Amino acid sequence: MVPEDHDGLENAEKRFSGIGVSSGIALAHAHVRNNYFVEPDKYIIDDEAKDEEISRLEKAIAGTKEQIGSLKDQVREAAGSEGEENIFDAHLLVLEDKVVLDEVRKNVREDNFNIEYAFYKTMSHYIEALRKIGDRYLRERVVDVEDVMRRVLRNLASGEKAEYSARHDHVLVVPELTPSDTAQMNHSLVQGFATEIGSYTSHAAIIARSLGLPAVVGINRFCEEVHTGDQLLIDGYNGVVVINPSASTLSEYEILKKEKDKLREGLEEFINKDAETKDGREIILSANIEFAYESDLAKKNGAKGIGLFRTEFFYMNTSGAPDEEEQFQTYSEVADTVDPNTVIIRTLDIGGDKLQNNSIKPELNPFLGWRGVRVSLDRPELFKVQLRAILRVAAVSKVGIMFPMISTLKELKQAKELLNEAENELIDAGVTYERPAEIGAMIEVPSAALIADQLAKEVDFFSVGTNDLIQYTMAVDRINERVSDLYQPLNPAVVRLLKETINAGHDAGIWVGVCGEMASDLFFTPLLIGLGFDELSVGAPRVPAIKHAIRSLDYEVCKSMAEAALCDASPDQIFRRCEKIALESYPEMLG
Ligand code: PEP
Ligand code: MG
Repeated sequence: MVPEDHDGLENAEKRFSGIGVSSGIALAHAHVRNNYFVEPDKYIIDDEAKDEEISRLEKAIAGTKEQIGSLKDQVREAAGSEGEENIFDAHLLVLEDKVVLDEVRKNVREDNFNIEYAFYKTMSHYIEALRKIGDRYLRERVVDVEDVMRRVLRNLASGEKAEYSARHDHVLVVPELTPSDTAQMNHSLVQGFATEIGSYTSHAAIIARSLGLPAVVGINRFCEEVHTGDQLLIDGYNGVVVINPSASTLSEYEILKKEKDKLREGLEEFINKDAETKDGREIILSANIEFAYESDLAKKNGAKGIGLFRTEFFYMNTSGAPDEEEQFQTYSEVADTVDPNTVIIRTLDIGGDKLQNNSIKPELNPFLGWRGVRVSLDRPELFKVQLRAILRVAAVSKVGIMFPMISTLKELKQAKELLNEAENELIDAGVTYERPAEIGAMIEVPSAALIADQLAKEVDFFSVGTNDLIQYTMAVDRINERVSDLYQPLNPAVVRLLKETINAGHDAGIWVGVCGEMASDLFFTPLLIGLGFDELSVGAPRVPAIKHAIRSLDYEVCKSMAEAALCDASPDQIFRRCEKIALESYPEMLG
């Protein structure tokens, strides 16, 4: 039943392409984690160690049989009748399959593979063969076999070498990276990542850019091609991934890296300068962060404070919601770092693709569901913990607050009402607090953009979340590659909503910024400046490049271009206008 092994040219270079969502080059060994298994390390053992390896497998199998036996007992008890527990018989049969076990032993005896890898390799082939079988019953046994494999690997994993790769610098390879995966991964060890699924504005990609981790997504069936321990090069600039790069590939990338480093060093001269256009229009250029420690880079790169602190990642990073004190400490830490500039704390935006484990029931249309301020308003006790923490920080530091996913005026008023309640609770408790310096609303739902004049009366600023505004305007899921052609930042409908929002804000005398990914794209800078945005908030690593772009632009030129763009009928026309100005103003940045 076990297919033949054909992996002769194991160390040959292999190139794959995907979508580069975070620029940079990373080189490290791969740590592959597919949906079901952590692929074990592969290494060669000494001849003397073979017996020991095989006895480790025997122990793991015995342990697995015991666990399945007790599961059977539990099911029998729960069902109250005999028979239901027999579903586990197929599992036990796999553990006794002589063909499989002989193949594993052969892999150890003849190829000197470590037992985890020998078992994984054999079982993977076995599963692949089962998947191809016409008989439906046999095909459905794949789930059982996978379950057995997972259990045995887990039992083997108590060994010393297991998880080696996860404990050292590595490139993470997964079918799909969820925002909670990114929140929980060890940022000091992960050097980059490669995934089979993903898009530019998925939160995982946004985090990769924020952390300056090279990332390539959308690499078809990549997890089947790469093995834990393989050397992996990630080229986030061009969306290329190379397994076992050859010496000539490595030197090619050495040159590219030097060029990019030089370009980045060239930007350092702008760090302490203002983000001001050539004709004197000053733009507040701030940074987006997801984790408190990113505020160091924001400051180092010359950001004027934090324009968006996505606090939900801090929630995902801890087990359960962080309490008031923990939140107070974290917000204070960020505020201290960026002092005397302001940190704008966005209240919890859980939901959408940012599901916290088990805290939100999966929904059919999560982006249209229980998300952002909707969750906060439905869970006022949870919301007020965050509001109290922010009010307390405001007593000692410069903080702003903004509410995500506002779609009605009522929601905004309710959010502010809860802020008042939180204030009263602090007064009753005799705790020092201050009203945040500024209270804002995010404009990321078309309904909010269309009633921006009414919302503007309630707040001190607007921050446009273009990532969501585009998805909701165009009715395209921002992480669904099948409709990614329709995810059009420059669609005339989106551009008009941006302009409406700016007009409404300015008529009411408040400032209007953008904190979505549009603000980080050098091709869009002329349009955003020309439309009249007062603030751009971008991932911390992008601050120097965007500052350079702003300083190279002429506001009046951008303004005329934006006026013309508002009459255009196609995204391409608008793009060409932007591109022309960008190429004239900072060609060296667009390579
Ligand atoms: C946005 O929607 O543009 C935004 C900044 O919020 P997020 O990406 O976290 O949804
Ligand atoms: Mg959003």
